[in-house]
Amino acid sequence: MNLCMLTIQQAQALLREKKITAVELIRAVMDRIRSIENKVGAFITLVETSAMEQAREADRRIDSGDSSVLLGIPVAVKDILCTRGIRTTCGSGILKNFIPPYDATAIQRLREAGAVIIGKTNMDEFAMGSSTEYSAFKVTRNPWDLSRIPGGSSGGSAAAVAADMCLGALGSDTGGSVRQPASHCGVVGMKPTYGRVSRFGLVAFASSLDQVGVLAKSVYDSALLMRVISGHDPRDSTSAPVPVPDYTRDFKEGLKGVTIGVPVEYRSLEGMDADVSEAFSKSIQTMESLGARCVEVSLPHTPYAVAAYYVIAPSEASSNLARYDGVKYGFRDPEATDLSSMYCKTRSKGFGPEVQRRILIGTYCLSAGYYDAYYKKASQIRTLIIQDFKKAFETCQVLLSPVAPTPAFPIGEKVEDPLTMYLSDVFTLSANLSGIPGISIPCGFSKEGLPIGLQLMGNHFDETMLYRAAYHFEKATDFHLKKPQL
Ligand code: GLN
Repeated sequence: MNLCMLTIQQAQALLREKKITAVELIRAVMDRIRSIENKVGAFITLVETSAMEQAREADRRIDSGDSSVLLGIPVAVKDILCTRGIRTTCGSGILKNFIPPYDATAIQRLREAGAVIIGKTNMDEFAMGSSTEYSAFKVTRNPWDLSRIPGGSSGGSAAAVAADMCLGALGSDTGGSVRQPASHCGVVGMKPTYGRVSRFGLVAFASSLDQVGVLAKSVYDSALLMRVISGHDPRDSTSAPVPVPDYTRDFKEGLKGVTIGVPVEYRSLEGMDADVSEAFSKSIQTMESLGARCVEVSLPHTPYAVAAYYVIAPSEASSNLARYDGVKYGFRDPEATDLSSMYCKTRSKGFGPEVQRRILIGTYCLSAGYYDAYYKKASQIRTLIIQDFKKAFETCQVLLSPVAPTPAFPIGEKVEDPLTMYLSDVFTLSANLSGIPGISIPCGFSKEGLPIGLQLMGNHFDETMLYRAAYHFEKATDFHLKKPQL
């Protein structure tokens, strides 16, 4: 077996038993990247030299008996997380030469656990998008079908994991950006509870929705990575001082006695692909065959989630992105003649069309005279959505839904039609609006052989329950074992 195809769990065992070395593992991953990166386009920046150095250091630590969880494990990182000394572009021309002087907390924790960072992955500019086509640098292709999108905005991370160009990856999820690409690429994607992972060093898009998440080849690997990056951080006041459990703790418990809610609103959705509906129905049966009790629940405000999100997220973005003014960070247009032309030219040339669209929408929604009609109304809907979930979790511990209404669509199909692109986020946005955790796991394939994902959502800080249900579903199925032919 080629070492790049290992899961983290397998590699960890082989490294500890000294059957392989970290250097061999990194070499296998780098060879894999060399042979297929020109087809997939998952990375913006690769750091091979420093990765080899870190691998040699990991081997020394293993020899001295160190058993840190991720020692020697090659991990890729979405280019939205600040990495000290490594260019961090956020998929944008405005940050194309930005080299952060510090590590994000999630990165620092990865490094402390011994992980080897191999590079920064492609993404939609400032994480705004669902296809990775809005990157200022390149198009990332879905490893299962190179003519299709990998999902977004963490498309590079999802494609890299699916194509064995790393053993696991970090992403970020503001409205579905970890779960949706995971679903389209046939890997496991976890967005934890808001506050579970520090946002320090995560480039801000919509601060009340943003969370760091993980992409992995198995539920176990996901739980392992997630535990490493979770926990309170004094540098992010929204990170929660809640103890971090071992998320694999309850794997030994089955699903007997677990109640799973299936929201009726999600079953009657217009525009849902037949293969997705079928895979979803079969997944409910699988959960029942494992002993779970599946019941109907209602999330009555679901039809308003897309509209509320696409007011709140751009509003926060318009404020967060004001800092890219050509003064403190990144690109400044050299043709500027005075202060106002500097702002105008820098931002017109530095930002791509989707980011400009969001800034305009957000600025409009927050402006005097419109604030009450848009931002305030959207915030009120957000409260109703939070209450929907609260009520649902009175009768069940897990909610089940599809991740996306269709499998991965062809490159170019929706790029000129932002509204259709926004509508494809219908299943994932609510978890961000309410702050609850959600995980996407492989649950089938379309007739064309494209992966389909199943979303499990849980109550605040109940990731352990989600991982338990996801683990048993994965054990009972083999979708996660199939590999794309490249
Ligand atoms: N697709 C959504 C958007 O464009 C979500 C993006 C994300 O989660 N970062 O805003």
